[in-house]
Order: sequence, then C-alpha cells, then structure tokens
Amino acid sequence: MSRPVTIVTGGSRGIGAATCVRLATDGHDLALGYVSNDAAAQEAAQAVRAAGARCVTVRADTSQEADVERLFDTVAAELGPVTGLVNNAGVTGPLGRLAETRTEDLRRVVDVNVLGYLLCCRRAARDMAANGGGAIVNISSAAATLGSPGDYVHYAASKAATDALTVGLSKELGPDRIRVNAVAPGIIDTDMHTTMGDPDRPARMASAIPLGRPGEASEIAAAVAWLLSPDASYTSGAILRVAGGR
Ligand code: NDP
Repeated sequence: MSRPVTIVTGGSRGIGAATCVRLATDGHDLALGYVSNDAAAQEAAQAVRAAGARCVTVRADTSQEADVERLFDTVAAELGPVTGLVNNAGVTGPLGRLAETRTEDLRRVVDVNVLGYLLCCRRAARDMAANGGGAIVNISSAAATLGSPGDYVHYAASKAATDALTVGLSKELGPDRIRVNAVAPGIIDTDMHTTMGDPDRPARMASAIPLGRPGEASEIAAAVAWLLSPDASYTSGAILRVAGGR
C-alpha cells in the first residue's frame, strides 16, 4: 500500500514540527510548510527524514493564494497525490485589548488563521476529491470557546471560525470521502507565547489547568495522528479539545 502524503502548514516549529515527526514515525511522507524560518524548517525536515519519511519543505505564506497553490503543486509533483492536510500555521499578533489593537494586526490574524485555513482546505478538497478522499485536521484552540478577554479576543474569534469551518466542511465533503476534524489545544509550551510577548504564560497558567501543567507539542501531535489514521475512519466534524481538562 502507498504511504499517506500529508501537508503540515507551520511545520517548522512548535506543534507543527512535532506533528511532522509523529506522522513520519507513523508512516506518512511529509510536506512541511513554513513562512520565513529556513533554519527551523531544515532542522524539522532533518528529524522527519531521520524517522524514515520523505520530506519536502516549502516556504509559503498560507494567507496568499498563489503561495498555497504552489505548496500543493509542489507536493503533487514531488510526493504524489495529497491524502492529508494539517492546517496548523497560525498567528496571534501582539497581546492587547481590542480597543488598542492596530487594524494591521487584526487583519494579519484573520488573513492567516481564517483565510489561510480556507485557502488550504479549498485546494485540499479539490485534490482529495479527485483522488478518492482524504482527511483534514484543523488546529483550532480552546480559546475558541473559552474566549480570551483582555489580551487577544480577535485570535479567539479566528479560532471560533476554525471550528465553524470544520463542522461545515465535514458535511460538505463527506460525500467525497474526505473527513474534516479539528484539534483544540489548551496552553502548549511553544514559541508562540514568546512571539506574542508573554513568554511566561505557560508556567503562569499551570495552576488554572486541571492537570497542573501546560501541554507538550507532542501531545497535540498524538491527537492529530489519531484523527488522520484509519482508526478514526468514522470520525468527522469532531472538535477534540486537548487542554489538560481546561
Ligand atoms: P509557533 O509560533 O511555535 O509556530 C508557528 C508556525 O507557523 C511556524 O512554523 C511558522 O513558520 C508558521 N507560520 C506562521 N505564519 C505563517 C504563514 N502566514 N504561513 C505559513 N506558515 C506560517 O506556533 P504553535 O506551534 O504554538 O501553534 C501552532 C498552531 O496551534 C496555531 O494555529 C496556534 O494558533 C495553535 N494553538 C497554539 C497553542 C499554544 O499554546 N501554543 C494553543 C492553542 C492553539 P516560521 O517558522 O517560518 O515562522
């Protein structure tokens, strides 16, 4: 049987990089998308290849239609028909109350987290339908339902959009044998918190998490791997919260 071919956007760091390595271990070939950090992408790709998988790295901004099309074209040419998509590339922008947030920061969050997910889902839907099916996992956030008042409410709103597009697409694409699910992580120890200006957030929030600690990227990767696997063959439209009980 041929190996699954899976695209992971934002595969160079954090949850995406851990997901690439986990999927390589599970027998997938990987396309690792990223936006700017060439060194991180190469390091993650090396780990994927060390796990025995083929891996292409593609620098592509998922908020740009032409980049998304090039990402999928490259995968088809170099790895074969895509069978899996992990829509993971996401941004928060700097922390701040909505009243003080710049329009360009609002726009970037919506462009990457909402438009980017839709552009990738659209192309995956076309390619997977033409090749007999597939599976999509969208990385949402517990913030979609918990909200994030006082720091980044626009990010929470973008993740609520992820949940809505996951449920809607699961209905639309079921007849094409494409499953669509989401994983909603809680607080996971990655660069994201430093990028948004609050590196201590995971440690500070530990006491608010029933399991008493932030999550590891590999714990999100495990949930993604299950949703992509044949073990989840009857699971579609699910939003799986992986948040330590939060
Ligand atoms: P990181 O900040 O650690 O990594 C972000 C990744 O996304 C990098 O690989 C980065 O590439 C890539 N990326 C950013 N913008 C774009 C873009 N426009 N086009 C393509 N790639 C892009 O993030 P995390 O691993 O923490 O987060 C991954 C996902 O999980 C996000 O969707 C996030 O919202 C979600 N999430 C994270 C949580 C957490 O606590 N960490 C909690 C809940 C959800 P490059 O290396 O080139 O910069």
